[in-house]
Order: sequence, then structure tokens, then C-alpha cells
Amino acid sequence: MDCQNKEKNMDFCNCSYPGCPRKGLCCECLRYHLSNDQMPACFFPPEAEKTYDRSLKHYLSIKGCG
Ligand code: SF4
Repeated sequence: MDCQNKEKNMDFCNCSYPGCPRKGLCCECLRYHLSNDQMPACFFPPEAEKTYDRSLKHYLSIKGCG
């Protein structure tokens, strides 16, 4: 994933959170969420993503590990 190619990255971004300046900037998005013990939107299926709960606990629960 090319972190500078915002337009191309948006083809793959499933984040529905409005107004985030990191949208399409995958390196910044990943760094932001990992530094908060979270996962970015693209790790979550649509219904889980819409809750905006990006926590590791939520991620593990949808993977059947929590
Ligand atoms: S996953 Fe988080 S950092 Fe990434 S675009 Fe969505 S709200 Fe922004």
C-alpha cells in the first residue's frame, strides 16, 4: 500500500467515520490506531466498522477470541 497515493488508497478504504484527515493515508491511519491499542477500520467488517469501536478487544471479539 502506497501511503502517499491517497486517491488510489481510497478505493480500498472502508472507513465511514466522517471528516478524518487520515483517510486514504494508510501509514498515518495505522500509526494512529496502533498507538491507541486499536485497529484501523479496514480490519473490521461493515457492521462492526460502523460502531467506530476500533479497540483490540472488539477486533478479537469478532474474530471469536474475546
Ligand atoms: S480508520 Fe481511523 S484513522 Fe483511519 S481513516 Fe478511519 S477514523 Fe481515520
